[in-house]
Amino acid sequence: MPVKSQKRNFIIAGNWKMNPDSLADAKTIFAAISRKARSARHTVVVLAPPAPFLSAGASRSGRAGTAACLAIQDVSEHVSGAFTGSVSARQARSAGAEYAIIGHSERRKAGDTDMIVSQKVRQALDAGLRTIVCVGETERDPHAHYLRTVREQILAVVGALDKKQVRSLTHSLIVAYEPVWAVGKSYDTAPKPSDIHEMSIYIKKVIAESLGKKIGIKIPVLYGGSVDLENSKAILKDGGIDGLLVGRQSLDSKDFGGMIDYADSL
Ligand code: PEP
Repeated sequence: MPVKSQKRNFIIAGNWKMNPDSLADAKTIFAAISRKARSARHTVVVLAPPAPFLSAGASRSGRAGTAACLAIQDVSEHVSGAFTGSVSARQARSAGAEYAIIGHSERRKAGDTDMIVSQKVRQALDAGLRTIVCVGETERDPHAHYLRTVREQILAVVGALDKKQVRSLTHSLIVAYEPVWAVGKSYDTAPKPSDIHEMSIYIKKVIAESLGKKIGIKIPVLYGGSVDLENSKAILKDGGIDGLLVGRQSLDSKDFGGMIDYADSL
């Protein structure tokens, strides 16, 4: 069936964090979400399971209408070597990941500075992973200093890229706006779609100022932070974003599937 050009192309990504407990449960969720992903005509579905479950996922390609793509939740800032417990970007790619989530607030809280995040992004891009960089402020202060935080997080990443990485950036970089105060909270904590829209414009503007308008406009911006099926609809419709990065609700195949269906209908 031909894809109608007026339809919006969303990315619906799920970050499973350190869940579920067993490979059997992971396979059940993979199967249910992949069925949904295959029936989506305009929506790319990305699942980020814990690393040991990557190869059990059915990743096919980065197009809508195929099985869900796989993402690694983090990669090492090093290429390879004596780094016990770490997973390299190349290993993730070779185990089937096509995407990487870098700079998640839970990784930043565990010690990832802007510098480390930028090194990890470079590793991921060099390994051929489409890279979802998470940015977001810890609080929204009345003087809008939070804008500076987000700006600095973005510039640390884009300012560290080499020319070759910049050339392929519109295909390989995705920014996820995840205000830390809204991640893992109750579902009425998510910001209003109009606030998300404002932030999405701001993020594209910051990238445009650094790398040029052509790139800034094309980099997809996702929203993440206490999204459930109910609030996802207004966010997708009016949030001026290119998709969602969903945490807890991505393990609920019914609700996450509902988000995929809704995104695909827009
Ligand atoms: C996340 O972990 O990226 C996230 C957005 O979590 P939640 O949806 O549970 O707030």
